[in-house]
Amino acid sequence: MSRQLLLLNETLRLQDNPLLNVPKSADSAYAVILLNQHQFEQSSPKRQALQAALIADFAKQLSARGIQLHCYIAEPWQQLQKLIKAWQIELVVAATPCAIDEVRLFDKVSSLCKVQLLDCNSLLDGQLAPDYQRFPKSCSQFRSQREPELLVSAPVADLCCLSAFIGNGCSPFSSQTETNEQFAAAYSSEGASKRWQNYLQSPAFSAYLQTRNQLYGADYASFLSVALAFGTLSVRQCWQDLQQGPQHPSAVWLKQELFWREYFRHYFRVHGAACFAEAGLARRAPLPKFPKGSSAARENFRRWQQGETGVPFIDANMRLLANTGLMSNRGRQNVASYLVFELGIDWRLGATFFEQQLLDFDVASNWGNWAYIAGAGEGPARHFNVMKQALQYDKDAEFVSLLQPDINPTLTGPAKHRPYAIDGTAPWQESWAAYLP
Ligand SMILES: Cc1cc2nc3c(=O)[nH]c(=O)nc-3n(C[C@H](O)[C@H](O)[C@H](O)COP(=O)(O)OP(=O)(O)OC[C@H]3O[C@@H](n4cnc5c(N)ncnc54)[C@H](O)[C@@H]3O)c2cc1C
Repeated sequence: MSRQLLLLNETLRLQDNPLLNVPKSADSAYAVILLNQHQFEQSSPKRQALQAALIADFAKQLSARGIQLHCYIAEPWQQLQKLIKAWQIELVVAATPCAIDEVRLFDKVSSLCKVQLLDCNSLLDGQLAPDYQRFPKSCSQFRSQREPELLVSAPVADLCCLSAFIGNGCSPFSSQTETNEQFAAAYSSEGASKRWQNYLQSPAFSAYLQTRNQLYGADYASFLSVALAFGTLSVRQCWQDLQQGPQHPSAVWLKQELFWREYFRHYFRVHGAACFAEAGLARRAPLPKFPKGSSAARENFRRWQQGETGVPFIDANMRLLANTGLMSNRGRQNVASYLVFELGIDWRLGATFFEQQLLDFDVASNWGNWAYIAGAGEGPARHFNVMKQALQYDKDAEFVSLLQPDINPTLTGPAKHRPYAIDGTAPWQESWAAYLP
């Protein structure tokens, strides 16, 4: 008989969750969520509430089957040592991590007991796992190599070995508040699955290719990211749903986007600590304009965080993040580029801020995209012409007007993107004047 600890962080689902199928009838197993205390405390109140709501919902689903979810907010290594000792654990089972600190954590755990890692939040697991010795240098190469081989296994039906689990009780997180219930309704496995199935049947899905670059609104994109980040939906299930439906251009493009997520997951495992270094893989970094920690750099960073740079397109996106915990992909690319290239601030400060704020924070997607834009990834830096982008994606300035009703009311249409032209000096050197209205 083996005593097991199943670490269910980021796999908050019963469907297609291979971790829950590891215990056999002769085993005794503890279902555990262990949140990193430092990260949790740094997260925005919105993100904390979402996380608590989704864990509470998952605990309820397990409890209905007689399984207690043991939840801890602690320093992970210390807490795992305690649990392994107290429960005499012989095997720790968890999702294969992407970030180096978690990889190191499991290395340490393996000095105390056996560790079994299952890549249950990736598309390419098991025999389809990429060859890390010959990992492609771009996402498009990665996709063209791996997509044809992608035969996603049928989702695992349900958890099979109830008798193995120990305890039946409540989670320390409760889902009482209205916000928590709203979060659970939108992003729990039941809520997210309903939403996804409705989306697949909707005209919005067929229009994804045309709408995916929008800045706000309902259903302009799939809104899968929160559910995938917390693992309330299985990415393999989503892929399978897409494969089984009509292969119109929007379906093909959405699969392509899922491959970006997949690419970064494996990229992080290949490149380890370099993914978090300022120079990254490029071994060169954009030069900060302001000495690190100087009062000018601090003030610029504060303005960026609070949506007060004076550039409406940037500020509107940052205010959207503060209000909702989300931002469109187009918005994220622009605010990231602005921070790195116009404000000359270390990209890792931006990545850390996003980590704390985003409801869909995912370590590989977040840090991978930031590095990609800053030029700390495999390819060249992506310096966006923010004014050109504003005029292309918010031609009539509807987005900035909605998020910033305080922009000079005498300005109309595209001129709203440039209030500083009459209010004072430009907040950056206008190298893209050619695009101004
Ligand atoms: C600076 C920056 C930071 C980002 N941080 C995150 C993050 O923490 N978590 C996160 O899930 N995504 C992140 N992204 C990627 C992308 O912006 C979001 O996945 C997307 O906006 C989520 O909305 P959606 O689910 O409606 O996307 P859709 O357009 O409907 O795409 C479907 C899914 O494909 C995946 N995807 C799409 N674009 C990307 C991408 N560029 N990189 C990786 N995966 C992608 C996501 O899983 C997404 O849910 C970041 C992008 C940038 C530029």
